[in-house]
Amino acid sequence: MEQIPCDEPNPYQVACQQLDIVAAHMKLDPDILELLKHPKRTLIVSIPVRMDNGHIKVFTGMRIQHLDAFGPFKGGIRYHPEVCLDEVKALAIWMSIKCAVVGLPYGGAKGGIICNPKEMSESELEHMTRRFTHEIIDIIGPYRDVPAPDVYTSAREMAWIYDTYSEAKGFAIPEIVTGKPISVGGSLGRREATSRGTVISVREAAKRMKLDLKNATVAIQGFGKVGYHAATLISEYGCKIVAVSDSRGGIYNPKGFDPKEVKKHKQKTGSVVGFQGTKKVTNEELLELPVDILIPAALENQILAGNAPRIKAKIIGEGANGPTTPEADEILYKNGVFVVPDILANAGGVTVSYMEWVQNLTRESWTEDEVNNKLEDRMVAAFDEVYKVHQQEKVHMRTAAYIVALKRIAEAITDRGIFP
Ligand code: GLU
Repeated sequence: MEQIPCDEPNPYQVACQQLDIVAAHMKLDPDILELLKHPKRTLIVSIPVRMDNGHIKVFTGMRIQHLDAFGPFKGGIRYHPEVCLDEVKALAIWMSIKCAVVGLPYGGAKGGIICNPKEMSESELEHMTRRFTHEIIDIIGPYRDVPAPDVYTSAREMAWIYDTYSEAKGFAIPEIVTGKPISVGGSLGRREATSRGTVISVREAAKRMKLDLKNATVAIQGFGKVGYHAATLISEYGCKIVAVSDSRGGIYNPKGFDPKEVKKHKQKTGSVVGFQGTKKVTNEELLELPVDILIPAALENQILAGNAPRIKAKIIGEGANGPTTPEADEILYKNGVFVVPDILANAGGVTVSYMEWVQNLTRESWTEDEVNNKLEDRMVAAFDEVYKVHQQEKVHMRTAAYIVALKRIAEAITDRGIFP
């Protein structure tokens, strides 16, 4: 089956390195550490799809289930031409840690299909999604493993998964997947939830740093689901969006611009690049701009030992998973940059996924305000808890978040014991 080698630094090795650092700091039982480095289950499947040209193309899909100490596995499915196994493994581990940081009754999972969705028709994507669901049907389920959107997947793909799963079982089972369209049991507020959580965590960080959000400058890497809504939501606090980017490059105007207008431009031209009154910057340059707040909202491995010393932002809110390596973390910490780590900063997505799942299981639907208020409370509580550990233990926020999560996970594993 097709496997793509991961770029360096290998994300799984990064995840293990993060676990090692925290395990040493908190004197975690080495047996628990050993367990956490090994996902419970990995399934790799071939997905044959008859393409629009009449020929069959076989895609490779994977689902990795990391931990089920608290409840079902939970995590998104990403479609990307370069998605690699060790990346999905790392993402599954980070999902476990993330769920534990915010105290959700889930363990982590992640899925991926090696494909380029930008070059596929809607019908090809639908066939691929449905066949993938069919291939993993035995290991997913509302009490087993609940998928969700991730990079280049959205409510549309979730609706196909829901339909395929329900047709196979013979009745409607909306709780099989989260991030669905509202029409089939999706939750109000889910679409913006990841970004809302990121913005809440940046706001809390700004309070601690005594940084006034009014007129604070913001650069956002990535202008997809997370980046775009982060831009509009943080603007509501009076921040100035001065730079954004997508896979084709970035734009910069120190005076700021309206992200809604940039979105219109992207819809017309396919990219943010070329938006009126802005200067073109690369994705790498965007990270080093003189801004107050930096929100990486694209992929892993963006802030590395090499560029970390040049980061000028005071606060980094990680909307993406895994954007910063452990070496870069140390440099940023020494330089006084306040990093709200992915496992806290982007936990809003899975938090509202949990709310969607609860609404589906109870056949209830909550108002958008109810969802947003619950999200606000959970994010602030998690931030406070992590911040307390950060101060008490004199460690950066990522290590502090891991400490909070690993305590919960270790306790659950110890109480359950190892089968048989
Ligand atoms: N893909 C998102 C994440 O990385 C959401 C996962 C979910 O809602 O299950 O957190």
